[in-house]
Amino acid sequence: MAGSGTAHLRGDDALLSVQDLVVEYPGKAGTVQAVSKVSFDVLPGETLGIVGESGCGKSTTGRAMLRLDRATSGRIRFDGEQIEQAGESRMRTLRRHMQMIFQDPVASLNPRRSVKDIVVEGLAVTGAPAAERAKTSADVLAKVGLGDDRFTGMLPRQLSGGQAQRVAIARALAVNPRLLLCDEPVSALDVSVQAQILNLISDLKAEYDLTVVFIAHDLGVVRTISDNVMVMYLGKVCEFGDAVEVYDAPAHPYTRALLDSVPLTDPDKGFAGPSLEGDMPSPLSPPSGCRFRTRCPLAQDRCAEEEPEVREIRKGQYAACHFPLTSAAGEEPA
Ligand code: ADP
Repeated sequence: MAGSGTAHLRGDDALLSVQDLVVEYPGKAGTVQAVSKVSFDVLPGETLGIVGESGCGKSTTGRAMLRLDRATSGRIRFDGEQIEQAGESRMRTLRRHMQMIFQDPVASLNPRRSVKDIVVEGLAVTGAPAAERAKTSADVLAKVGLGDDRFTGMLPRQLSGGQAQRVAIARALAVNPRLLLCDEPVSALDVSVQAQILNLISDLKAEYDLTVVFIAHDLGVVRTISDNVMVMYLGKVCEFGDAVEVYDAPAHPYTRALLDSVPLTDPDKGFAGPSLEGDMPSPLSPPSGCRFRTRCPLAQDRCAEEEPEVREIRKGQYAACHFPLTSAAGEEPA
């Protein structure tokens, strides 16, 4: 697969495989290049964290996975099936197996339905008889910690943010999906509640045998939950690899800069390299070559002339950079 920027794809075993995904939004001012040839895959049982600054195309990528946004081009395969070719009714069936939870849980729940009814209604796609749906709803609400009668009769606006996210998780898992797409599911919650929800997702992941795609701008959150992490910048993949490796020894200067811009890095590492200055360029007219070059202190002429392909930098760690960082301290090559 060399030369296609897909060196990090792991073949037919993936439950989800996204290849050369492009999502563009034409408008009066030009075309927003939201996602530009993004490729990644997720093996069954894995959690992939997708990180990057706001506007880098994380949500658009997630929405295209479920075909909630139409891809301009590219291929998305779920459980062996190319979803861009599926008809609408087939897509509805597939979405049962690809559930999603969102940043604003209250807004994602029907305001006029009780907690119990929200989960029961979500189960309509299964075609199960009413009594069975009621039982499944009660079971899954108990698993998310809302089994008590005083919760099941409540309306979404009577719940805290954390409780509402628990309901959204219950509704998603009740239908026994294979994949759970979490789009910034804890960003709107208090820090103490964030940890509870992350733990809940981790616990239920094992219990429901789930594969998870977890989108967040917060690197700390992604680190806790992910097996692999994919770093995006301005619609492109910068880096992909094992979460521990990527966080300990980022290969892409953008990953390094992101890590430096949050207080989770180990101060002992003492890296005084690139930090994230300036704004992200407009996705209407991204820079030539490497899109990060206008903010990258390591950029050279080649970076403007030639787009770097995603390639293996260290075993299992891939980056799209002509001049990747090579050591744990994040130093550039001599
Ligand atoms: P992220 O999730 O990383 O914050 P998004 O995927 O939401 O980023 O957005 C990527 C880019 O696409 C942004 O520049 C955003 O403004 C743009 N965008 C997203 N949705 C639309 C849309 N429906 N129409 C036009 N532009 C959009």
